[in-house]
Amino acid sequence: MNADQIHMLTKNALRGDIKSLEALFDFLEKFNAPISKFAMYSILYQVIMNNFLNLGKYCEECGGKCCKIGLPVPVYHFDYKELKARLSKDELKNLRKHNGFYTLSRPCPFQDSWKCKIHEFKPYACMSYPFATEDEQKDIMERYKDGIPDFKVPDFCIAGKKVKEFMDEIVNKLRVKLGRDPTPREILNEVLTKF
Ligand code: SF4
Ligand code: SF4
Repeated sequence: MNADQIHMLTKNALRGDIKSLEALFDFLEKFNAPISKFAMYSILYQVIMNNFLNLGKYCEECGGKCCKIGLPVPVYHFDYKELKARLSKDELKNLRKHNGFYTLSRPCPFQDSWKCKIHEFKPYACMSYPFATEDEQKDIMERYKDGIPDFKVPDFCIAGKKVKEFMDEIVNKLRVKLGRDPTPREILNEVLTKF
């Protein structure tokens, strides 16, 4: 699989396509390395956040801070393809091009109050916040050796904290049952029984 295929598989998984998530797990498992294990857990947590829990009220309470503060959002070429197909020429002018790369500045021009106006086709980086965002998880990733990562969630991200609480409950239940840390697939299967 080339880098583009992996990115698109990840993007589809982040949108809630469980077959893509399982295919991504198949791919990452082959490496049998801490970094690939970390990636499996981080994508899983993010898939649960994006697709399984009703978190809108928490994002409303927060006011959409992740779209207001921080470095510009990277827009990869596969994101750009989707944006180009869906946005008008004027709307596309909101993207900045620098050294051949597109970005969206923050505060994001596509934010409407706390909501995203382009939610259905927002960039990969937006779908990755906060569990699969490299900037947020860099320190945890560097220290990671094994087990369930203690993901960092910014204090203002109420939705991310709720996801952690939800996942902690599932992980702890599985730890008691299995006598060890559950694998990403075991957690996924347990979550799927609930929805
Ligand atoms: S994901 Fe977190 S930071 Fe972003 S709007 Fe929701 S609660 Fe706020
Ligand atoms: S595209 Fe949407 S989710 Fe991404 S930063 Fe802008 S408003 Fe937020």
